[in-house]
Amino acid sequence: MRSLSPGLVRDLLGRYNFRIKKGFGQNFLIDNNIIKKIVEAAELKSTDTVVEIGPGLGSLTRRLSERAGRVIALEIDRTLLPILEETLGEYDNVTLIEADALKTDFNRVVGEYSGPVAQYKIVANLPYYITSPLIMHFLENSFNVSRIVIMVQEEVARRLTAKPGSKEYGALTIAVNYYASVETAFRVPRTVFIPKPEVGSAVVCLDVRDGPPVSVLNRDNFFALVKAAFQQRRKTLLNALSAVDREYSREDWLGMLGEAGIDPSRRGETLDLGEFAILANIYTHDK
Ligand code: SAM
Repeated sequence: MRSLSPGLVRDLLGRYNFRIKKGFGQNFLIDNNIIKKIVEAAELKSTDTVVEIGPGLGSLTRRLSERAGRVIALEIDRTLLPILEETLGEYDNVTLIEADALKTDFNRVVGEYSGPVAQYKIVANLPYYITSPLIMHFLENSFNVSRIVIMVQEEVARRLTAKPGSKEYGALTIAVNYYASVETAFRVPRTVFIPKPEVGSAVVCLDVRDGPPVSVLNRDNFFALVKAAFQQRRKTLLNALSAVDREYSREDWLGMLGEAGIDPSRRGETLDLGEFAILANIYTHDK
């Protein structure tokens, strides 16, 4: 594979008179070793279909194309398309689509361009400003995704893998871990991008679960409790929950917390997924 070296990247940007758009979170990878490691983390087989979000100049796309059966690359910035047509011209298993990933029905796109596949993978060096909504878009919509490999800001990687009680632990941690098992694969220095981002990054792997790791009777109630607990982090659980449902008094919540075996003076941010599930199920039963 002819890599997109820093010189080639500058040459492409110059020849196409391309202006980097901060608004689209454009930081292009120029380090082959990191690209190789991202592709390895995706554990691709030659029969796999992979959807790449934001191919940029195509450096990651080229390597994905060599490992997967089919690559579908969604790029929002139409001014990158002529560059991608050049860098991906000889890669005939790549389909390039101008699209906003946040508004894309991934199952439909894969069905259209890859035919019927049971499952597919997602690989992305994500623009930081859409990381959380995009991860939730992948997970909440029951797309047939098996594995997601994403580069995110280091701080987001810490939030995704945070433990209860830590300052990074929050509603995003719970939501993502509800749908997927999460692990940080490796850290990525700022120096491997053009232009250099302000902060360090990390590659995170999400293996989508067949079902949640805890039994939850009503998903909406579960997430309503999680949201309330983290919206008012400084409050005790009892005070935070009192805001969830006006039909329930403090005494009602006290009773439910007692039934769940959870000390009402704890803060919501100390509850793990299992404790949130027990409490939410009692609330659901009661309603
Ligand atoms: N994958 C390339 C790389 O690693 O060099 C580019 C990564 S750059 C951080 C993010 C890319 O995502 C840019 O090409 C940007 O235009 C694209 N992008 C931003 N928002 C997007 C969206 N909502 N849907 C699809 N692509 C998007």
